[in-house]
Amino acid sequence: MQPFEGISNGTAPGMVDGYGRRIEYLRISVTDKCNLRCVYCMPEEGLPWLRRAEILDYEEIAEIVRVMAGMGLKRLRLTGGEPLVRKDLPRLVAMLASIPGIEDIALSTNAVLLAPMARGLKDAGITRVNISLDTLREDRADAIARRPGTLPRVLRGLDAAEKVGFEPIKINVVLMRGENDDEVADFAELSRNRPLHVRFIEVMPTESNLELSASSFLSCDEALAAIARVDALEPVPGPPGNGPATYFSFPGARGTIGVITPMSHNFCSRCNRMRLTADGQLRPCLFGTIETPLRDPLRRGEDLRPLVEETLRIKPEKHLLVQGSSAGSGGLIALSQTGG
Ligand code: SAM
Ligand code: SF4
Repeated sequence: MQPFEGISNGTAPGMVDGYGRRIEYLRISVTDKCNLRCVYCMPEEGLPWLRRAEILDYEEIAEIVRVMAGMGLKRLRLTGGEPLVRKDLPRLVAMLASIPGIEDIALSTNAVLLAPMARGLKDAGITRVNISLDTLREDRADAIARRPGTLPRVLRGLDAAEKVGFEPIKINVVLMRGENDDEVADFAELSRNRPLHVRFIEVMPTESNLELSASSFLSCDEALAAIARVDALEPVPGPPGNGPATYFSFPGARGTIGVITPMSHNFCSRCNRMRLTADGQLRPCLFGTIETPLRDPLRRGEDLRPLVEETLRIKPEKHLLVQGSSAGSGGLIALSQTGG
């Protein structure tokens, strides 16, 4: 399979990797920093943060997206770290929304800062949001995020997201035995009367969470079994999006329940994405060591297209994660470093 298909209809050529997967989706980490320290994601003391000069500015991010849109990129997600801690984010969103070929811009956020920003982000061009929320209990939220006062702010962010009309709104819940496994049914209930799509995610091992990811691992199959004891679950197509989730719903529910199973049921054969880190590394896979630096070539005025083509060509077939080991993570300390 050639990485690039010819232009036959006047539109941008598609990016197809060595395994025949069409890549139309880029997750952009706009910062490595975060206002929380979720136990499964980041060490409590934080990470060796990137220096300002190392981080792509908004014009540089837009230029990389422009190049890739010319090659077939269509959809974007802004993530981090926590994207809302980066100053003036709506300015970037507006710049990206004006790039020909970009059809959709989504946001992943912990929602702590979302309430006052929701309207501006929507007006700038964010269409939909994923909100991380791992517990509905205040004391647990503070313990998981390692920051006080987290839950009320996240819930205000969620309400604001509904109010300004992001569609769809997905809630990401990282499953942890002994931490939030007894809340699985409560989370599922959120999808019954509100247009919310609650997605359970299996925790993935990184260098900084090895103990937790081994001792607290809970599979999505176990979560679904607990939910099915409450009410019948039927498979449904799920909301629009680019992700690997499989969806179900309660009969007549307004929202859905999704599962993302990187550990128990590998979905890499359906992978449709690449990642851009805050310091301009183009990564073909969340895990592993393959990355192509785009920042310095861009600053030297070089053509980025051959670098993108080469990264696509070497996109691995699948991740090699193994529960209880950091071997397959490629030395990744935290998902916040590559945008999750
Ligand atoms: N700060 C934003 C947030 O929390 O939504 C965006 C970045 S965060 C790295 C993106 C997603 O990765 C979140 O849904 C988070 O729960 C998830 N995540 C982080 N570390 C993880 C891990 N080790 N295993 C599974 N999911 C993880
Ligand atoms: Fe921050 Fe998101 Fe990681 Fe939590 S999951 S520490 S909110 S980047």
